[in-house]
Amino acid sequence: MRLVILGGGESGVGTAILGKKKGYDVFVSDYGKIKENYKEVLSINGIKWEEEKHTEKKILNADLVMKSPGIPDKVEIVKKLHQNNIPVISEIEFAMQYTSAVTIGITGSNGKTTTTMLTYHLLKSGGLNVGLAGNIGKSFAWQVADEDFDVYVLEISSFQLDGIVNYRPDIAIITNISPDHLDRYNYKYENYIASKFRITMNQTAKNYLIYDADDETIHNWLQNNKTKAQLIPFSLLHKPEQGAFINKDIMELYINEEEFSMETKDIALEGKHNLKNAMAATSVAQLMRIRKQTIRESLSNFQGVEHRLEKVLKIQNVLYINDSKATNVNATFFGLDSMTSPTIWIVGGVDKGNDYSELMSLVREKVKAIVCLGIDNTKIIEAFGDVVDVMVEVATMNDAVRMAQRLSEKGDTVLLSPACASFDLFENYEDRGRQFKQAVRNL
Ligand code: ADP
Repeated sequence: MRLVILGGGESGVGTAILGKKKGYDVFVSDYGKIKENYKEVLSINGIKWEEEKHTEKKILNADLVMKSPGIPDKVEIVKKLHQNNIPVISEIEFAMQYTSAVTIGITGSNGKTTTTMLTYHLLKSGGLNVGLAGNIGKSFAWQVADEDFDVYVLEISSFQLDGIVNYRPDIAIITNISPDHLDRYNYKYENYIASKFRITMNQTAKNYLIYDADDETIHNWLQNNKTKAQLIPFSLLHKPEQGAFINKDIMELYINEEEFSMETKDIALEGKHNLKNAMAATSVAQLMRIRKQTIRESLSNFQGVEHRLEKVLKIQNVLYINDSKATNVNATFFGLDSMTSPTIWIVGGVDKGNDYSELMSLVREKVKAIVCLGIDNTKIIEAFGDVVDVMVEVATMNDAVRMAQRLSEKGDTVLLSPACASFDLFENYEDRGRQFKQAVRNL
């Protein structure tokens, strides 16, 4: 059996190693450059590869193709594979055949990484032999090849879900759905929604689907479509029969006749969105029968994830917060919503078709000045020019941070929450966040 892998990144190399171990004739093809350390791993394992090209005759003879989630369906070689009826799957689909571990699959537009890390933290603290994979760290396939975990917590993007056929998470989470990545879905929101719900398409009545019941898109889908999974909603507004709920200052869960409660002030993560993430992760912990005392301790000592509302430093009583991972309006909404003091907001980058109107009332309430950090800031200026008194444009992170400092007074917060992608001025959101932190430390 010939397994061809398109894309020689983390998931591609992981799949290659697992495929080789399972006896496939493996070939890796990348249209870009493959990183040196991956080339070494491939060569050591006797796996053939090519870079900066896709040689058709070495690809179209595949029995099975694993396509890295970064490669869109519209590229020529993928179209040809489809025309030739060669199955094209994702890494998760390939790897799941070779493990009997329980998997928890986490998807959604925002909050995936935070919820995944928190869930992992809860289960690990609870003593389970658990692995963490998906878009984080070592790929799922690689771990299935090398490790022996009983449980996996998997962060799963919509692109990964597009390439599943039989994958069935024992527990699925959909954190929320708002428009994102529409360029990959023919600019149709319904296609993107359908892609997220693929996470539950193979689930049975033994499985669970945990989801945000306050999310209109999710609510509507569930009204009009079916899943066999048992539903575990979470909500900030309504108490569900079974599920999780914030009752004033207390997080309450009712799952399988078990109750759990904890004061929200003892949860380390801040902000309403993080209460949602905490409800989702705690629901998993309860389904997996982690001790209540362990859940409480773990929720109170979880330190959060870099670039997500990360507190950097307080300088002259001004707090600097790095929310560089907020690459869409919905994430920034919750960033601004969490602010408790007058805010100087650093925003901008590559606009993905943003509608800023949702942010208007929060900006009126919380933002005293806006620093635009992007090559083209027209839309931001149009949206908020009349709403805030001070608006400045800058072209580097150093200038943004220095300008924000100049505009701030004791007790204020400086928030980097761009609502945009980073590719105009930075390599990626991590680079943007790191430059922010460095600039703050240099003040
Ligand atoms: P993802 O992996 O889905 O991109 P992250 O956990 O990395 O999610 O968070 C991305 C951004 O969204 C951050 O700015 C974070 O503060 C914000 N965020 C986190 N959880 C939620 C949520 N439940 N709803 C909305 N925004 C969220």
